[in-house]
Amino acid sequence: MKSDIEKQLRLCPSLPTLSTVALKLVEIGRDPQVDLRQVAQLLSNDPALASKTLRVANSPLYMRGRGARTLTQAIAVLGLNASVSLALSFSLGASLRSSDTPGIDLDRYWRRALLSAQAAKFMGLRLGVGGVEELFLAGLLQDLGMVALDAALPGEYAAIVAGAAHEDLPMLERAALDVDHVEAGAWLLHEWGLPGYLARAARYSHERHAAAKAEVSAGFMACVTISGPIADIYIEGDKDAATARAFAVADACLGMGARHVTEVLERMAATLPELESLFDIPVLPAIQALGLTEQARELLAMRNLQLLQSASETRTRENDYRERADELNELVRRDALTGLFNRRYFDDVLSDALRAADADGDMLSVAYIDLDRFKSINDCYGHPTGDRILIAVADRLLSQLRPGDLLARYGGEEFVLLMPGVDTTVGSQVVERLRVAVEQMRHRLDTGGFLNVTLSAGVACYTGECTTHDACGELLHLADQALYEAKVSGRNCVRASQQPHSSVDGRAPTKAGASVPTSASRGSAADDPL
Ligand code: GH3
Ligand code: MG
Ligand code: MG
Repeated sequence: MKSDIEKQLRLCPSLPTLSTVALKLVEIGRDPQVDLRQVAQLLSNDPALASKTLRVANSPLYMRGRGARTLTQAIAVLGLNASVSLALSFSLGASLRSSDTPGIDLDRYWRRALLSAQAAKFMGLRLGVGGVEELFLAGLLQDLGMVALDAALPGEYAAIVAGAAHEDLPMLERAALDVDHVEAGAWLLHEWGLPGYLARAARYSHERHAAAKAEVSAGFMACVTISGPIADIYIEGDKDAATARAFAVADACLGMGARHVTEVLERMAATLPELESLFDIPVLPAIQALGLTEQARELLAMRNLQLLQSASETRTRENDYRERADELNELVRRDALTGLFNRRYFDDVLSDALRAADADGDMLSVAYIDLDRFKSINDCYGHPTGDRILIAVADRLLSQLRPGDLLARYGGEEFVLLMPGVDTTVGSQVVERLRVAVEQMRHRLDTGGFLNVTLSAGVACYTGECTTHDACGELLHLADQALYEAKVSGRNCVRASQQPHSSVDGRAPTKAGASVPTSASRGSAADDPL
């Protein structure tokens, strides 16, 4: 902390001090050897403190069996640490409230402090965090720095924080004073010799994930952090905004659901009269507290509805994107003119298919299919007619395909066919069937009359014994060579490649250019489709 502010705090005559009882409680709290009787002795010196401790021990939260009738029983029920923390809460609550600080609205401050304390305690119970009285005390004292700064800077501090929401205070304070209330509070709690966790909880009470820095459990720190925003639901003018903020902080601290907040509000409303009577402060009419719980529930329901809506919108958007992605994926695989798969996709599939054939010891054949003298069709009848014919031929080829085969437009008037599990003999028969199907097509011309188009094809089979690492390239090259043979043989025919090795089933290799038995008359009328 900046030394001049510290000096100012240190020298401030109106800085709150601990009462004698509180001082003794602090001392006792620090003594690891302390026993129940010593605490009972100390509390019995202060009748108000003693009766309040008894009342808490007999409250539904602690009461087990027949309840505590003596102070010793009460301390036994509460536990030593809880008793000391509770007594400190009472005694600090009483002594600090009577301290004479000029500026800030102390009534509002203490109502908020008490509500925070109660919120921290019930949140701790809800989350199963141990040390609920310590949580109460930490919640109660977390903003003590405001009282300290108000005392050290009479008038000035009140003017800085006037009208501001609590969560904005540290920022405003640092801008104006170079110090904020969490730091000043931590300093004062330390000065008083209070247990270290209280100073640390105060210092980090405005941070959402400060458990590690505060050296307390994450649950403990989260309960302190959420307690102020819960108190603000009672304190702030705009209840809905305060509730939404508390939900958001709850969500950010440990991912606590907003439901936790409404449950805590409910318990707070039920115990408000008891809290007010224990601390002699009117906090809020109980009926108003119940109203706040209802309001918070409504907001929670609305929020859930909004969350549901936005979740379903997100899902719809996700589905749209997925569908769009699928469409785009499909689009990039397809040839725009014919709708067949394109060369890039074929190349991908071919290399996968070769790997699979290698792994399974299977054969695989490919065929290059090239339309004969297609250039002259364009030249004579125009490109659009050529396009129409290309589309029609592609459709016919597709309609003749066996399941498992893959046809792609490899470019121009060239197609490729992938036939897994097939040798050149069967492959050539398949392609021969395609050749016949295309040859039998009659293409109507815009100018009247019909045209027929033929194809030439070369088939090659992969036997798993390619001689270069580029098996795809080598296989396609063999098919291309066979196609060339078909072209030079007069077109409108199918040729099979001469395989470098015998095929897997041990049949004799097919010679390159070996013709496939066909019923078609090659290179006759089809030789010149025009
Ligand atoms: P060959 O029998 O030797 O294969 O003769 P060809 O005329 O078919 O061969 P070439 O490779 O000389 O010409 C191919 C022609 O295919 C050239 C081009 O006009 C035509 N072509 C390629 N792509 C398209 C296309 O998308 N639409 C149309 N209409 N024609 C195309
Ligand atoms: Mg051609
Ligand atoms: Mg060509």
